[in-house]
Amino acid sequence: MKYVSTRDPNRRVSLEAAVTRGLAPDGGLYLPETIPRLPESLLGSLPGRTLPELAAAMIHDYLAADFSRSEIESLISASMTFDAPLVRVADRVAALELFHGPTLAFKDFAARFMARLLESFASREGDRYTVLVATSGDTGSAVASGFHDCPGIDVVILYPSGRVSPAQEKQLTTLGGNVQALEVEGSFDDCQALVKACFGDSELTGRVRLTSANSINIARLLPQTFYYARLVAQADRKLPLVVAVPCGNFGNLAAGLIAKQMGLPLGRFVAATNENDVVPKFLETGEYAPRSSVATLSSAMDVGNPSNWERIRVLHQEDPEAIRSAMVGARFSDSETLEAIRSVYHECGYLLDPHGAVGYLGLEQALLSEPDSQGVFLACAHPAKFAEVVARATGVEPLLPPALTELLDRTKQAICIRADYDELKSFLLS
Ligand SMILES: *Cc1c(COP(=O)(O)O)cnc(C)c1O
Repeated sequence: MKYVSTRDPNRRVSLEAAVTRGLAPDGGLYLPETIPRLPESLLGSLPGRTLPELAAAMIHDYLAADFSRSEIESLISASMTFDAPLVRVADRVAALELFHGPTLAFKDFAARFMARLLESFASREGDRYTVLVATSGDTGSAVASGFHDCPGIDVVILYPSGRVSPAQEKQLTTLGGNVQALEVEGSFDDCQALVKACFGDSELTGRVRLTSANSINIARLLPQTFYYARLVAQADRKLPLVVAVPCGNFGNLAAGLIAKQMGLPLGRFVAATNENDVVPKFLETGEYAPRSSVATLSSAMDVGNPSNWERIRVLHQEDPEAIRSAMVGARFSDSETLEAIRSVYHECGYLLDPHGAVGYLGLEQALLSEPDSQGVFLACAHPAKFAEVVARATGVEPLLPPALTELLDRTKQAICIRADYDELKSFLLS
């Protein structure tokens, strides 16, 4: 498989080039040049298949130019070490729980996979990489955990000061070793803009082998298709599936759309956002107007200019009507989010985190006009990662698993910087 930029389908590059560059030189994002349909033998026998089985079969074509079948299997077995269970919440409504990994958010799947992949590239070449990542919370913790102690790799994480939860901040800033956290005086969008500026600076990239572990990286996106197959493998196959995705940078939704193009029987998607509703507005009005993000309770979704939207446009040949038929948009306020956490807990006994709550609300709304469908929303983070918000809504304080409780006692180690490119650049060169 070759990979192409969203801005130039003619310049084909290898997997290694796509993964190690992160962003294409023309500023576009990489996509596989084709998305082959999965073999009928696999599509016809999904029920009951485990996540590693599905993953090894699904990723094969995308890695086969660089890795043997047994290398692919060991990559998968080293990274896909926890499941994505489908849990019934209410009539026609189930949660695909993506938070059973080490940092309790869906990003663990992709970060762990990418770490193993990059580690094998680094060791083949005897080279050293610096993974540079901007985070609104969960990406940084998943990347820090996935790449911690990875030989040949340094990790630099930029996060917006005061805009990540206390548990997230500890996950970002307490690992030490090859992981350095930079606390930026600014928003997530500022962090993301700084990272993008680094990749566009040829003087810097000539001196440091930079790569990104944000969802702009194709190595983050591909493994996110696996759990959509695991969803189908567990779903009741009688009714069409509507899948609600709580969206920030739109990586998860882009992966879902790719999974559907691979042939998985997924119906319409719901692009559910908080007040950062650039995409729902576009779906409603046809006008795409990125703007600065606003802070909400579902902070991992506070993105004003979602990077992966460009991929979603290209996956639909830039046709707004094709995009509109693939998904509906939905947007919810913080008070609606709190009310959903409260009512789902009291009426269904299920504890939502604020991001999952936005997905739940989007699903509930979409099912009103799809009475013959069953719905799944992605539960992207464990409620204990956002304990303050969940306690405010329900009166119940969700407990962190013991491994994470221990983290809260460790000392934060972060370097504070302004949202200033030169400051970041001199840090990276030092
Ligand atoms: C990252 C994240 C999101 C947003 O996912 P995207 O792929 O960026 O759209 C939603 N919820 C949680 C909990 C997250 O960590």
